[in-house]
Amino acid sequence: MEHSPRELIDTERRTILCPRCEEEQPMRDFATLGMSPLYAEMLTPIFRCKQCNHLFAPRQQAVPVMSNGVSGNGNVTGT
Ligand SMILES: [Zn+2]
Repeated sequence: MEHSPRELIDTERRTILCPRCEEEQPMRDFATLGMSPLYAEMLTPIFRCKQCNHLFAPRQQAVPVMSNGVSGNGNVTGT
């Protein structure tokens, strides 16, 4: 039996896999719990599975570059 690594969020098929009951459901069937739109970029959405009421927050993959510590760029303090 081959157990391939699965993505929780399938962006192509627009489905989300519940990590508890392992049912794939359409994204729109998942209710995201109270996220302030002001801070949505900084928050991880929490999804609730309709089947088993499991709450889970998928870890963000491929985090966009925010601070990539480029040296020798910007603040060069010389005396
Ligand atoms: Zn579930």
